[in-house]
Amino acid sequence: MHDGPAHATTDIEGYVPFPADRVRAYREAGDWRDLTFHAVVDRVAEATPSRRALVGPERELSYGDLARNSRRLAGAFRDELGLRADDTVTLQLPNCVEFVEAFLACSRLGVVPAFVLPRHREQELGHVVSLTESKAVVTAGDRYDLGFDYVGLVDSVVDDHAHLDACVAVAGDGSDAPTGWHDLTALRDHDEEVDGDDVNPCNPGLFMLSGGTSGLPKAIPRTHNDYVYLWEHIARAMGVEADWTLVAGLPIPHSFAFGYVLGAGLWAGATVAVEPALKPDPLVALVDRVDGDVTTLIPKQLIDFLDAGADATLSTLRVVCSGGQKVPPDLVRRVADQWDAGFCNVFGMGEGAQVITRPDDPVEVQATTVGRPLGPGDEIRIVDEGREVPRGELGELVVRGPGVFTGYFRNEAANESSFDDDGWFYTGDVFSQRPDGTYEVWGRLDDTINRAGETIYAPAIEDVLVEHPKIAKAAVVGVPDEALGERVGAAVELRRGTASLTLDEVTAFLDERGLAVFRRPERLAVVASLPETDVGKIDRGAVEREFGAGESV
Ligand code: AMP
Repeated sequence: MHDGPAHATTDIEGYVPFPADRVRAYREAGDWRDLTFHAVVDRVAEATPSRRALVGPERELSYGDLARNSRRLAGAFRDELGLRADDTVTLQLPNCVEFVEAFLACSRLGVVPAFVLPRHREQELGHVVSLTESKAVVTAGDRYDLGFDYVGLVDSVVDDHAHLDACVAVAGDGSDAPTGWHDLTALRDHDEEVDGDDVNPCNPGLFMLSGGTSGLPKAIPRTHNDYVYLWEHIARAMGVEADWTLVAGLPIPHSFAFGYVLGAGLWAGATVAVEPALKPDPLVALVDRVDGDVTTLIPKQLIDFLDAGADATLSTLRVVCSGGQKVPPDLVRRVADQWDAGFCNVFGMGEGAQVITRPDDPVEVQATTVGRPLGPGDEIRIVDEGREVPRGELGELVVRGPGVFTGYFRNEAANESSFDDDGWFYTGDVFSQRPDGTYEVWGRLDDTINRAGETIYAPAIEDVLVEHPKIAKAAVVGVPDEALGERVGAAVELRRGTASLTLDEVTAFLDERGLAVFRRPERLAVVASLPETDVGKIDRGAVEREFGAGESV
Protein backbone atom coordinates (compact mmCIF):
# COMPACT_ATOMS: atom_id res chain seq x y z
CA MET A 1 0.00 0.00 0.00
CA HIS A 2 1.08 3.56 -0.65
CA ASP A 3 0.92 6.04 2.14
CA GLY A 4 1.65 9.24 0.17
CA PRO A 5 -0.99 11.83 -0.62
CA ALA A 6 -3.58 10.56 -3.09
CA HIS A 7 -3.02 13.44 -5.48
CA ALA A 8 -0.88 16.46 -6.26
CA THR A 9 -0.31 18.86 -3.39
CA THR A 10 1.27 21.64 -5.40
CA ASP A 11 0.13 25.25 -5.21
CA ILE A 12 1.38 26.05 -8.69
CA GLU A 13 -1.43 27.97 -10.33
CA GLY A 14 -2.22 26.88 -13.88
CA TYR A 15 -1.14 23.25 -13.41
CA VAL A 16 -3.76 20.64 -14.37
CA PRO A 17 -3.37 17.70 -11.95
CA PHE A 18 -4.16 14.05 -12.67
CA PRO A 19 -7.68 13.28 -11.37
CA ALA A 20 -7.63 11.43 -8.03
CA ASP A 21 -9.38 8.33 -9.45
CA ARG A 22 -6.68 7.89 -12.08
CA VAL A 23 -3.93 8.41 -9.50
CA ARG A 24 -5.51 5.68 -7.42
CA ALA A 25 -5.83 3.33 -10.39
CA TYR A 26 -2.21 3.88 -11.51
CA ARG A 27 -0.97 3.17 -8.00
CA GLU A 28 -3.09 0.07 -7.61
CA ALA A 29 -1.90 -1.25 -10.97
CA GLY A 30 1.74 -0.61 -9.96
CA ASP A 31 2.20 1.76 -12.90
CA TRP A 32 3.07 4.54 -10.48
CA ARG A 33 5.63 3.57 -7.90
CA ASP A 34 5.65 6.83 -5.95
CA LEU A 35 9.30 7.45 -6.64
CA THR A 36 10.68 10.93 -7.20
CA PHE A 37 13.45 11.46 -9.74
CA HIS A 38 16.03 11.72 -6.97
CA ALA A 39 14.68 8.62 -5.23
CA VAL A 40 15.44 6.64 -8.39
CA VAL A 41 19.08 7.73 -8.10
CA ASP A 42 19.21 7.28 -4.32
CA ARG A 43 18.10 3.65 -4.62
CA VAL A 44 21.11 2.86 -6.78
CA ALA A 45 23.42 5.09 -4.71
CA GLU A 46 22.47 3.24 -1.53
CA ALA A 47 22.87 -0.24 -2.99
CA THR A 48 25.96 0.35 -5.16
CA PRO A 49 27.44 3.80 -4.43
CA SER A 50 30.60 3.29 -6.45
CA ARG A 51 28.83 2.30 -9.65
CA ARG A 52 29.52 4.73 -12.48
CA ALA A 53 26.53 6.99 -13.14
CA LEU A 54 27.74 9.70 -15.51
CA VAL A 55 30.59 10.18 -17.90
CA GLY A 56 30.79 13.73 -19.16
CA PRO A 57 33.49 15.78 -20.69
CA GLU A 58 36.25 15.99 -18.10
CA ARG A 59 34.15 14.55 -15.26
CA GLU A 60 32.87 11.16 -14.16
CA LEU A 61 30.49 10.62 -11.28
CA SER A 62 29.51 7.49 -9.41
CA TYR A 63 25.92 7.11 -8.18
CA GLY A 64 27.18 7.98 -4.69
CA ASP A 65 28.82 11.18 -6.01
CA LEU A 66 25.73 12.13 -7.97
CA ALA A 67 23.46 11.66 -4.96
CA ARG A 68 25.77 13.67 -2.69
CA ASN A 69 26.45 16.48 -5.19
CA SER A 70 22.76 16.95 -5.89
CA ARG A 71 21.99 17.01 -2.13
CA ARG A 72 24.57 19.74 -1.58
CA LEU A 73 23.47 21.69 -4.61
CA ALA A 74 19.89 21.48 -3.36
CA GLY A 75 21.13 22.90 -0.04
CA ALA A 76 22.79 25.78 -1.89
CA PHE A 77 19.73 26.40 -4.06
CA ARG A 78 17.70 26.68 -0.86
CA ASP A 79 20.14 28.67 1.30
CA GLU A 80 21.91 30.87 -1.23
CA LEU A 81 19.33 31.25 -4.00
CA GLY A 82 16.31 31.17 -1.69
CA LEU A 83 14.48 28.55 -3.73
CA ARG A 84 11.53 26.70 -2.22
CA ALA A 85 9.12 23.92 -3.22
CA ASP A 86 6.87 24.90 -6.15
CA ASP A 87 9.31 27.55 -7.38
CA THR A 88 10.37 27.24 -10.99
CA VAL A 89 13.88 27.44 -12.41
CA THR A 90 14.81 27.65 -16.09
CA LEU A 91 17.67 25.31 -17.05
CA GLN A 92 19.56 25.91 -20.27
CA LEU A 93 22.56 23.63 -20.38
CA PRO A 94 24.23 21.49 -23.01
CA ASN A 95 24.73 17.78 -22.42
CA CYS A 96 27.02 17.73 -19.40
CA VAL A 97 27.20 16.26 -15.92
CA GLU A 98 26.10 19.58 -14.40
CA PHE A 99 22.71 19.34 -16.12
CA VAL A 100 21.95 16.18 -14.19
CA GLU A 101 23.25 17.57 -10.90
CA ALA A 102 21.11 20.72 -11.27
CA PHE A 103 18.02 18.76 -12.36
CA LEU A 104 18.29 16.43 -9.34
CA ALA A 105 18.95 19.34 -6.98
CA CYS A 106 15.68 20.91 -8.14
CA SER A 107 13.95 17.56 -7.69
CA ARG A 108 15.07 17.29 -4.05
CA LEU A 109 13.64 20.72 -3.26
CA GLY A 110 10.34 20.20 -5.07
CA VAL A 111 11.47 23.00 -7.41
CA VAL A 112 10.30 22.56 -10.99
CA PRO A 113 12.95 23.04 -13.69
CA ALA A 114 11.88 24.15 -17.19
CA PHE A 115 14.09 22.55 -19.84
CA VAL A 116 15.13 25.11 -22.44
CA LEU A 117 17.13 23.64 -25.33
CA PRO A 118 20.68 24.80 -26.05
CA ARG A 119 19.54 26.10 -29.44
CA HIS A 120 16.80 28.27 -27.96
CA ARG A 121 17.48 31.97 -28.07
CA GLU A 122 16.14 35.22 -26.62
CA GLN A 123 12.54 34.74 -27.73
CA GLU A 124 12.11 31.21 -26.39
CA LEU A 125 14.16 31.79 -23.25
CA GLY A 126 12.29 35.00 -22.39
CA HIS A 127 8.97 33.31 -23.06
CA VAL A 128 9.74 30.31 -20.83
CA VAL A 129 11.13 32.43 -17.98
CA SER A 130 8.03 34.59 -18.13
CA LEU A 131 5.44 31.80 -18.56
CA THR A 132 6.83 29.80 -15.64
CA GLU A 133 7.74 32.88 -13.58
CA SER A 134 11.16 31.38 -12.98
CA LYS A 135 13.00 32.54 -9.88
CA ALA A 136 16.38 31.52 -11.25
CA VAL A 137 18.14 30.58 -14.48
CA VAL A 138 20.95 28.03 -14.67
CA THR A 139 23.04 28.24 -17.81
CA ALA A 140 26.43 27.44 -19.31
CA GLY A 141 29.35 29.64 -18.30
CA ASP A 142 32.82 29.24 -19.75
CA ARG A 143 33.41 25.66 -18.64
CA TYR A 144 32.66 24.22 -22.08
CA ASP A 145 33.68 25.62 -25.42
CA LEU A 146 30.22 25.98 -26.93
CA GLY A 147 30.82 28.80 -29.40
CA PHE A 148 27.92 30.78 -27.94
CA ASP A 149 27.59 33.25 -25.08
CA TYR A 150 24.79 31.81 -22.90
CA VAL A 151 25.52 34.25 -20.08
CA GLY A 152 25.02 37.12 -22.53
CA LEU A 153 21.76 35.53 -23.64
CA VAL A 154 20.44 35.42 -20.07
CA ASP A 155 21.68 38.98 -19.48
CA SER A 156 19.62 40.11 -22.46
CA VAL A 157 16.34 38.89 -20.91
CA VAL A 158 16.96 39.29 -17.19
CA ASP A 159 15.76 42.87 -16.83
CA ASP A 160 12.34 42.04 -18.25
CA HIS A 161 11.54 39.68 -15.38
CA ALA A 162 11.16 41.06 -11.87
CA HIS A 163 10.64 37.54 -10.46
CA LEU A 164 14.07 36.40 -11.69
CA ASP A 165 16.24 36.68 -8.58
CA ALA A 166 19.28 34.57 -9.33
CA CYS A 167 21.48 33.54 -12.23
CA VAL A 168 23.80 30.55 -12.06
CA ALA A 169 26.55 29.71 -14.56
CA VAL A 170 28.80 26.68 -14.90
CA ALA A 171 32.18 28.38 -14.76
CA GLY A 172 35.38 26.68 -15.85
CA ASP A 173 38.14 25.57 -13.51
CA GLY A 174 40.02 28.56 -12.22
CA SER A 175 37.54 31.08 -13.58
CA ASP A 176 34.74 32.83 -11.72
CA ALA A 177 31.11 33.29 -12.57
CA PRO A 178 30.32 36.74 -13.99
CA THR A 179 29.75 39.53 -11.48
CA GLY A 180 26.41 39.15 -9.75
CA TRP A 181 26.13 35.50 -10.82
CA HIS A 182 26.54 32.28 -8.82
CA ASP A 183 28.93 29.56 -9.96
CA LEU A 184 27.37 26.11 -9.97
CA THR A 185 30.70 24.47 -9.19
CA ALA A 186 31.13 26.57 -6.05
CA LEU A 187 27.50 26.03 -4.98
CA ARG A 188 28.08 22.29 -5.14
CA ASP A 189 30.49 22.60 -2.19
CA HIS A 190 27.72 23.82 0.10
CA ASP A 191 27.82 22.11 3.49
CA GLU A 192 24.09 21.72 4.16
CA GLU A 193 22.43 18.86 2.31
CA VAL A 194 18.79 18.37 1.30
CA ASP A 195 17.47 14.80 0.88
CA GLY A 196 14.07 15.63 -0.54
CA ASP A 197 12.30 12.70 1.10
CA ASP A 198 9.20 14.85 1.56
CA VAL A 199 8.70 15.68 -2.14
CA ASN A 200 5.36 14.43 -3.44
CA PRO A 201 5.90 12.34 -6.60
CA CYS A 202 2.41 13.32 -7.82
CA ASN A 203 3.58 16.94 -8.13
CA PRO A 204 5.16 18.33 -11.29
CA GLY A 205 8.87 17.55 -11.40
CA LEU A 206 9.77 19.34 -14.64
CA PHE A 207 8.49 21.26 -17.63
CA MET A 208 9.33 19.85 -21.06
CA LEU A 209 8.84 22.21 -23.95
CA SER A 210 6.65 21.32 -26.89
CA GLY A 211 8.42 20.98 -30.24
CA GLY A 212 7.05 22.32 -33.46
CA THR A 213 8.27 24.73 -36.01
CA SER A 214 6.11 27.78 -35.59
CA GLY A 215 5.14 29.81 -32.57
CA LEU A 216 6.65 29.72 -29.13
CA PRO A 217 6.97 26.43 -27.25
CA LYS A 218 4.27 25.39 -24.81
CA ALA A 219 5.29 24.21 -21.35
CA ILE A 220 4.42 20.58 -20.59
CA PRO A 221 4.32 19.85 -16.84
CA ARG A 222 5.35 16.28 -16.06
CA THR A 223 5.10 14.70 -12.63
CA HIS A 224 7.81 12.52 -11.09
CA ASN A 225 5.40 9.59 -11.16
CA ASP A 226 4.39 9.87 -14.80
CA TYR A 227 7.96 10.27 -16.03
CA VAL A 228 9.43 7.56 -13.83
CA TYR A 229 6.78 5.24 -15.29
CA LEU A 230 8.23 6.00 -18.75
CA TRP A 231 11.82 5.56 -17.53
CA GLU A 232 11.00 2.13 -16.15
CA HIS A 233 9.24 0.89 -19.26
CA ILE A 234 11.76 2.39 -21.67
CA ALA A 235 14.55 0.62 -19.76
CA ARG A 236 12.57 -2.63 -19.84
CA ALA A 237 11.68 -2.34 -23.52
CA MET A 238 15.34 -1.86 -24.45
CA GLY A 239 16.52 -4.50 -21.98
CA VAL A 240 18.98 -2.08 -20.32
CA GLU A 241 21.32 -3.78 -17.84
CA ALA A 242 23.28 -2.14 -15.02
CA ASP A 243 26.59 -2.71 -16.80
CA TRP A 244 25.46 -0.90 -19.97
CA THR A 245 26.48 2.58 -21.09
CA LEU A 246 23.90 4.78 -22.79
CA VAL A 247 25.13 7.63 -24.98
CA ALA A 248 23.06 10.78 -25.51
CA GLY A 249 23.05 11.72 -29.19
CA LEU A 250 20.44 14.45 -28.67
CA PRO A 251 20.07 17.24 -26.13
CA ILE A 252 19.11 15.65 -22.78
CA PRO A 253 16.53 18.35 -22.04
CA HIS A 254 14.57 17.02 -25.02
CA SER A 255 12.18 14.18 -24.23
CA PHE A 256 13.87 11.67 -26.53
CA ALA A 257 17.28 11.63 -24.82
CA PHE A 258 15.77 12.45 -21.44
CA GLY A 259 13.71 9.27 -21.53
CA TYR A 260 15.72 6.89 -23.68
CA VAL A 261 19.18 7.72 -22.36
CA LEU A 262 19.20 9.60 -19.06
CA GLY A 263 16.00 8.19 -17.56
CA ALA A 264 16.39 4.63 -18.79
CA GLY A 265 20.02 4.66 -17.65
CA LEU A 266 19.30 5.98 -14.16
CA TRP A 267 16.37 3.62 -13.74
CA ALA A 268 18.55 0.62 -14.55
CA GLY A 269 21.52 1.89 -12.51
CA ALA A 270 23.57 2.00 -15.72
CA THR A 271 26.06 4.59 -17.00
CA VAL A 272 25.03 7.63 -19.02
CA ALA A 273 27.64 9.27 -21.26
CA VAL A 274 27.23 12.83 -22.48
CA GLU A 275 29.07 15.23 -24.76
CA PRO A 276 28.01 18.84 -25.53
CA ALA A 277 28.81 18.72 -29.27
CA LEU A 278 26.15 16.63 -30.99
CA LYS A 279 27.96 16.26 -34.31
CA PRO A 280 28.86 12.85 -35.79
CA ASP A 281 32.62 12.98 -35.09
CA PRO A 282 32.55 13.72 -31.33
CA LEU A 283 29.57 11.42 -30.83
CA VAL A 284 31.14 8.52 -32.68
CA ALA A 285 34.32 9.12 -30.66
CA LEU A 286 32.30 9.05 -27.43
CA VAL A 287 30.52 5.79 -28.30
CA ASP A 288 33.90 4.34 -29.14
CA ARG A 289 35.57 5.59 -25.95
CA VAL A 290 32.88 4.32 -23.57
CA ASP A 291 31.94 1.19 -25.57
CA GLY A 292 28.38 2.51 -25.80
CA ASP A 293 25.53 0.01 -25.72
CA VAL A 294 22.65 2.34 -26.59
CA THR A 295 22.32 5.60 -28.44
CA THR A 296 19.46 7.83 -29.57
CA LEU A 297 19.67 9.71 -32.83
CA ILE A 298 17.18 11.45 -35.04
CA PRO A 299 17.10 10.05 -38.60
CA LYS A 300 19.21 12.91 -39.96
CA GLN A 301 22.04 12.09 -37.53
CA LEU A 302 21.77 8.40 -38.26
CA ILE A 303 22.24 9.09 -41.96
CA ASP A 304 25.30 11.22 -41.12
CA PHE A 305 26.66 8.42 -38.90
CA LEU A 306 26.29 5.85 -41.63
CA ASP A 307 27.74 8.19 -44.24
CA ALA A 308 30.69 8.91 -41.95
CA GLY A 309 31.50 5.20 -42.16
CA ALA A 310 31.03 4.75 -38.44
CA ASP A 311 30.02 1.10 -38.74
CA ALA A 312 33.18 -0.46 -37.33
CA THR A 313 33.46 2.00 -34.45
CA LEU A 314 29.87 1.51 -33.47
CA SER A 315 29.97 -2.26 -33.32
CA THR A 316 29.48 -2.22 -29.53
CA LEU A 317 25.95 -0.81 -29.87
CA ARG A 318 23.26 -3.25 -28.76
CA VAL A 319 20.32 -0.92 -29.27
CA VAL A 320 19.98 1.99 -31.69
CA CYS A 321 16.98 4.26 -31.10
CA SER A 322 15.79 6.62 -33.75
CA GLY A 323 12.64 8.64 -34.19
CA GLY A 324 11.33 12.05 -33.31
CA GLN A 325 10.47 12.23 -36.98
CA LYS A 326 9.48 9.53 -39.47
CA VAL A 327 12.38 7.10 -39.86
CA PRO A 328 12.73 6.12 -43.53
CA PRO A 329 12.34 2.31 -43.78
CA ASP A 330 15.47 2.02 -45.89
CA LEU A 331 17.50 3.65 -43.15
CA VAL A 332 16.38 0.99 -40.66
CA ARG A 333 17.37 -1.72 -43.15
CA ARG A 334 20.80 -0.08 -43.62
CA VAL A 335 21.31 -0.06 -39.85
CA ALA A 336 20.32 -3.73 -39.66
CA ASP A 337 22.78 -4.56 -42.45
CA GLN A 338 25.69 -2.74 -40.87
CA TRP A 339 25.30 -3.23 -37.15
CA ASP A 340 24.34 -6.18 -35.06
CA ALA A 341 22.04 -3.97 -32.99
CA GLY A 342 18.34 -4.05 -32.17
CA PHE A 343 16.43 -1.09 -33.50
CA CYS A 344 13.87 0.91 -31.55
CA ASN A 345 11.82 2.99 -33.93
CA VAL A 346 10.54 5.46 -31.39
CA PHE A 347 7.40 7.49 -31.77
CA GLY A 348 7.49 9.86 -28.83
CA MET A 349 6.63 13.36 -27.76
CA GLY A 350 7.28 15.65 -24.82
CA GLU A 351 3.62 15.25 -23.88
CA GLY A 352 4.32 11.62 -23.05
CA ALA A 353 2.77 9.27 -25.65
CA GLN A 354 5.30 6.60 -26.62
CA VAL A 355 4.85 3.85 -29.22
CA ILE A 356 8.03 1.94 -30.08
CA THR A 357 9.43 -1.13 -31.78
CA ARG A 358 11.40 -3.49 -29.55
CA PRO A 359 15.02 -4.45 -30.28
CA ASP A 360 14.01 -8.05 -31.07
CA ASP A 361 11.13 -7.23 -33.42
CA PRO A 362 11.68 -8.37 -37.03
CA VAL A 363 13.56 -5.76 -39.09
CA GLU A 364 10.57 -5.20 -41.36
CA VAL A 365 8.41 -4.34 -38.33
CA GLN A 366 11.12 -1.91 -37.16
CA ALA A 367 11.38 -0.41 -40.65
CA THR A 368 7.73 0.09 -41.43
CA THR A 369 6.00 0.57 -38.06
CA VAL A 370 6.54 2.19 -34.68
CA GLY A 371 5.61 -1.03 -32.93
CA ARG A 372 3.41 -1.08 -29.87
CA PRO A 373 2.62 1.22 -26.92
CA LEU A 374 5.40 1.38 -24.37
CA GLY A 375 3.83 0.60 -21.03
CA PRO A 376 1.11 -1.68 -19.66
CA GLY A 377 -1.13 1.21 -18.57
CA ASP A 378 -1.12 3.12 -21.87
CA GLU A 379 -4.51 3.77 -23.43
CA ILE A 380 -4.50 4.45 -27.14
CA ARG A 381 -7.18 5.08 -29.79
CA ILE A 382 -7.26 6.11 -33.42
CA VAL A 383 -10.10 8.49 -34.05
CA ASP A 384 -11.72 10.24 -36.98
CA GLU A 385 -14.56 12.70 -36.58
CA GLY A 386 -15.03 11.73 -32.96
CA ARG A 387 -15.24 7.96 -33.62
CA GLU A 388 -12.69 5.21 -33.30
CA VAL A 389 -11.82 3.96 -36.81
CA PRO A 390 -11.77 0.26 -37.74
CA ARG A 391 -8.36 -1.40 -37.64
CA GLY A 392 -6.36 -0.54 -40.77
CA GLU A 393 -7.95 2.86 -41.32
CA LEU A 394 -6.24 6.17 -40.72
CA GLY A 395 -7.16 8.58 -37.96
CA GLU A 396 -5.73 10.83 -35.27
CA LEU A 397 -3.79 9.22 -32.43
CA VAL A 398 -5.52 9.89 -29.11
CA VAL A 399 -3.85 8.87 -25.85
CA ARG A 400 -4.25 8.79 -22.08
CA GLY A 401 -2.46 6.98 -19.30
CA PRO A 402 0.09 6.91 -16.49
CA GLY A 403 2.82 8.36 -18.73
CA VAL A 404 0.85 11.05 -20.56
CA PHE A 405 0.60 14.67 -19.35
CA THR A 406 -2.71 16.20 -18.30
CA GLY A 407 -2.57 19.71 -19.75
CA TYR A 408 -0.31 22.46 -21.05
CA PHE A 409 0.78 24.94 -18.42
CA ARG A 410 -1.28 28.14 -18.32
CA ASN A 411 -2.67 27.55 -21.79
CA GLU A 412 -6.41 27.02 -21.64
CA ALA A 413 -6.89 27.51 -25.38
CA ALA A 414 -4.47 24.68 -26.22
CA ASN A 415 -6.01 22.44 -23.56
CA GLU A 416 -9.50 23.16 -24.84
CA SER A 417 -8.57 22.07 -28.35
CA SER A 418 -6.36 19.11 -27.50
CA PHE A 419 -8.18 17.34 -24.63
CA ASP A 420 -11.69 15.94 -24.39
CA ASP A 421 -13.79 15.81 -21.22
CA ASP A 422 -12.47 12.36 -20.31
CA GLY A 423 -8.87 13.49 -20.34
CA TRP A 424 -7.89 12.00 -23.72
CA PHE A 425 -5.11 13.94 -25.45
CA TYR A 426 -5.44 14.50 -29.21
CA THR A 427 -1.88 14.27 -30.50
CA GLY A 428 -2.33 15.73 -34.01
CA ASP A 429 -0.51 12.69 -35.47
CA VAL A 430 -2.10 10.41 -38.07
CA PHE A 431 -1.83 6.70 -37.24
CA SER A 432 -3.20 3.37 -38.38
CA GLN A 433 -3.03 -0.07 -36.79
CA ARG A 434 -1.95 -3.13 -38.73
CA PRO A 435 -3.51 -6.59 -38.39
CA ASP A 436 -0.58 -7.73 -36.19
CA GLY A 437 -1.39 -4.94 -33.71
CA THR A 438 1.58 -2.72 -34.54
CA TYR A 439 1.09 0.94 -35.44
CA GLU A 440 2.09 2.96 -38.49
CA VAL A 441 2.65 6.74 -38.47
CA TRP A 442 1.59 8.80 -41.46
CA GLY A 443 2.60 12.28 -40.34
CA ARG A 444 1.12 15.25 -38.54
CA LEU A 445 -2.43 16.19 -39.49
CA ASP A 446 -0.98 19.44 -40.75
CA ASP A 447 1.74 17.66 -42.76
CA THR A 448 -0.90 16.40 -45.13
CA ILE A 449 -1.05 17.88 -48.60
CA ASN A 450 -4.40 18.34 -50.26
CA ARG A 451 -4.00 18.22 -54.02
CA ALA A 452 -7.31 18.60 -55.83
CA GLY A 453 -9.13 16.77 -53.03
CA GLU A 454 -6.57 13.94 -52.72
CA THR A 455 -4.89 13.64 -49.31
CA ILE A 456 -1.17 13.04 -49.56
CA TYR A 457 1.02 12.15 -46.55
CA ALA A 458 4.37 13.90 -46.91
CA PRO A 459 6.57 11.47 -44.89
CA ALA A 460 5.54 8.50 -47.05
CA ILE A 461 6.87 10.29 -50.14
CA GLU A 462 10.07 11.28 -48.34
CA ASP A 463 10.60 7.60 -47.50
CA VAL A 464 10.69 6.74 -51.21
CA LEU A 465 12.71 9.80 -52.24
CA VAL A 466 15.58 8.91 -49.91
CA GLU A 467 15.86 5.54 -51.64
CA HIS A 468 17.04 7.41 -54.75
CA PRO A 469 20.81 6.84 -54.99
CA LYS A 470 21.49 10.58 -55.22
CA ILE A 471 19.26 11.74 -52.33
CA ALA A 472 20.44 11.81 -48.71
CA LYS A 473 17.56 13.66 -47.05
CA ALA A 474 14.21 14.97 -48.21
CA ALA A 475 11.40 17.22 -47.01
CA VAL A 476 8.09 17.06 -48.86
CA VAL A 477 5.61 19.90 -48.44
CA GLY A 478 2.46 21.35 -49.97
CA VAL A 479 3.05 24.28 -52.32
CA PRO A 480 0.01 26.58 -52.68
CA ASP A 481 -1.53 26.38 -56.12
CA GLU A 482 -4.45 28.34 -57.49
CA ALA A 483 -5.84 25.57 -59.65
CA LEU A 484 -5.35 22.54 -57.41
CA GLY A 485 -5.19 24.00 -53.91
CA GLU A 486 -1.75 22.49 -53.33
CA ARG A 487 0.90 20.66 -55.30
CA VAL A 488 3.68 18.50 -53.94
CA GLY A 489 7.08 20.17 -53.53
CA ALA A 490 10.29 18.46 -52.42
CA ALA A 491 13.48 19.96 -51.04
CA VAL A 492 16.38 17.50 -51.05
CA GLU A 493 19.92 17.26 -49.82
CA LEU A 494 22.17 15.23 -52.11
CA ARG A 495 24.46 12.41 -51.07
CA ARG A 496 28.16 13.15 -50.83
CA GLY A 497 29.87 13.26 -54.20
CA THR A 498 26.63 13.97 -56.10
CA ALA A 499 26.64 17.19 -58.09
CA SER A 500 23.13 17.56 -59.46
CA LEU A 501 19.63 16.16 -59.65
CA THR A 502 16.73 17.14 -61.89
CA LEU A 503 13.00 16.86 -61.40
CA ASP A 504 12.87 14.55 -64.44
CA GLU A 505 15.28 12.13 -62.75
CA VAL A 506 13.13 12.17 -59.60
CA THR A 507 9.95 11.62 -61.61
CA ALA A 508 11.48 8.70 -63.50
CA PHE A 509 12.57 7.10 -60.23
CA LEU A 510 9.16 7.50 -58.59
CA ASP A 511 7.51 6.15 -61.73
CA GLU A 512 9.74 3.07 -61.51
CA ARG A 513 8.75 2.72 -57.84
CA GLY A 514 5.07 2.82 -58.81
CA LEU A 515 4.19 6.01 -56.92
CA ALA A 516 0.87 7.45 -58.12
CA VAL A 517 1.30 10.44 -60.42
CA PHE A 518 -0.58 12.84 -58.14
CA ARG A 519 1.78 12.00 -55.23
CA ARG A 520 4.95 12.86 -57.16
CA PRO A 521 6.69 16.20 -56.48
CA GLU A 522 6.07 18.83 -59.11
CA ARG A 523 8.62 21.22 -57.69
CA LEU A 524 12.13 20.32 -56.65
CA ALA A 525 14.70 22.36 -54.75
CA VAL A 526 18.19 20.96 -54.29
CA VAL A 527 19.70 22.49 -51.15
CA ALA A 528 23.05 22.33 -49.40
CA SER A 529 21.36 21.57 -46.10
CA LEU A 530 17.73 21.32 -45.08
CA PRO A 531 16.51 23.69 -42.35
CA GLU A 532 16.40 22.20 -38.85
CA THR A 533 14.24 22.62 -35.74
CA ASP A 534 15.77 23.46 -32.36
CA VAL A 535 16.41 19.79 -31.70
CA GLY A 536 17.83 19.19 -35.17
CA LYS A 537 14.83 17.55 -36.88
CA ILE A 538 14.25 18.44 -40.52
CA ASP A 539 12.02 21.52 -40.35
CA ARG A 540 9.26 20.82 -42.86
CA GLY A 541 7.45 24.01 -41.78
CA ALA A 542 10.40 26.20 -42.79
CA VAL A 543 10.66 24.43 -46.16
CA GLU A 544 6.95 25.00 -46.69
CA ARG A 545 7.17 28.69 -45.84
CA GLU A 546 10.03 29.18 -48.24
CA PHE A 547 8.29 27.31 -51.06
CA GLY A 548 5.12 29.28 -50.27
CA ALA A 549 6.99 32.55 -50.46
CA GLY A 550 8.27 31.50 -53.87
CA GLU A 551 11.86 31.66 -52.65
CA SER A 552 14.52 29.16 -53.44
CA VAL A 553 14.78 26.90 -50.42
P1 AMP B 1 8.62 16.49 -29.82
O1 AMP B 1 7.70 16.57 -28.68
O2 AMP B 1 9.35 17.74 -30.13
O3 AMP B 1 9.56 15.37 -29.69
O4 AMP B 1 7.76 16.18 -31.13
C1 AMP B 1 6.87 15.12 -31.16
C2 AMP B 1 6.37 14.88 -32.56
O5 AMP B 1 7.41 14.31 -33.37
C3 AMP B 1 5.25 13.89 -32.63
O6 AMP B 1 4.00 14.47 -32.35
C4 AMP B 1 5.35 13.39 -34.06
O7 AMP B 1 4.72 14.28 -34.94
C5 AMP B 1 6.84 13.43 -34.33
N1 AMP B 1 7.44 12.07 -34.18
C6 AMP B 1 8.09 11.62 -33.12
N2 AMP B 1 8.54 10.37 -33.33
C7 AMP B 1 8.16 10.01 -34.57
C8 AMP B 1 8.33 8.83 -35.38
N3 AMP B 1 9.01 7.75 -34.96
N4 AMP B 1 7.75 8.83 -36.59
C9 AMP B 1 7.08 9.90 -37.04
N5 AMP B 1 6.91 11.05 -36.35
C10 AMP B 1 7.44 11.10 -35.12
